[in-house]
Amino acid sequence: MAVIQQLDDALSNKIAAGEVVERPASIVKELVENAIDANSSQILVEIEEGGLSSIRIVDNGTGIEPNELELAFSRHATSKIKTDRDLFTIRTLGFRGEALPSIASVSRVNMQTSTGSAGMQVELEGGKIVHKQPSEARKGTTIVVTDLFYNTPARLKYLKTVLTEAGHVSEVMNRMALAYPHIRFHYVSDGKTVLKTAGNGDLRQVIAQVYGRKTAEKMVPITGSSLDYELSGYIAKPELTRANRQYMSIFINGRYIRNFKLAKAIQQGFHTKLPIGRFPIAVLKLEMDPTLIDVNVHPAKLEVRLSKEEALSEMIAESIKKALSEETLIPEPKKEN
Ligand code: ADP
Ligand code: MG
Repeated sequence: MAVIQQLDDALSNKIAAGEVVERPASIVKELVENAIDANSSQILVEIEEGGLSSIRIVDNGTGIEPNELELAFSRHATSKIKTDRDLFTIRTLGFRGEALPSIASVSRVNMQTSTGSAGMQVELEGGKIVHKQPSEARKGTTIVVTDLFYNTPARLKYLKTVLTEAGHVSEVMNRMALAYPHIRFHYVSDGKTVLKTAGNGDLRQVIAQVYGRKTAEKMVPITGSSLDYELSGYIAKPELTRANRQYMSIFINGRYIRNFKLAKAIQQGFHTKLPIGRFPIAVLKLEMDPTLIDVNVHPAKLEVRLSKEEALSEMIAESIKKALSEETLIPEPKKEN
């Protein structure tokens, strides 16, 4: 018998799931990204017990053609890229074609979808389709993920308490809402609404929902641009700081990213205005040509590579300095009531 063998799909999907599906929050992230890529204007996310017992996501996006629904659950099947050139000009949040098969391989999944004419529903267990039937034709997609990690006991043990997992999901939802103020998000945990946004495009309003109204009132708008980059967003006045870096959010082309140098640039923009050991609150949106950013670095796509990081850092720091110096010239707005 040969020593080296090709792994079957179920096993290789489970291995991929180890990278993409770390915890309930990573599932929520992948599925909400799919809903956004499908041009949804409304996204409902409901979790039970921190997402451990159930995650349900309802969107009103384009839906999947009934005859392609099975394919969507097979590895490396994607509608988002076709050629290797597309890999360098990514405008969607997804492109790896790994989320659905990975998630399905470590849970039970029920997906119902329709492009508006016919509808289709599939049920999968451990990545295998166990049931398939035509369904209603309401445009959009509903996916329900239950019994997460039921077949990967080690991963299940690694998960933290319901409260901790729910907290991670909330973080994901906050970032999604901040990244997409034009989308109406409704996030419900154990029957209670945690976040509900208007979807009217008003970023300051979303900041108020995520960080509270008082904080939002202390934020000032920021803009900046250079040959390659467009910057917009809000920063808190230096009188309002936080004890950790978590409150600096950077979005590049609609994707939340983590980048040490850019976070440093934000702090440099505040310069001496920040007390030692304190960090700013900032929501920065960067738009750039997708050829300037490589998102194909990490399966979860949190880390990216930027080709002109120095120039970008400078622009961010300068824009913050400018916004803060203009701010000191403008008197405080009168408080209502
Ligand atoms: P990727 O997002 O990287 O393409 P996924 O495994 O997440 O890979 O999804 C596979 C494909 O299924 C997507 O490319 C898309 O065509 C389709 N799909 C997944 N979720 C949705 C959704 N909510 N609405 C419409 N299409 C979807
Ligand atoms: Mg995806």
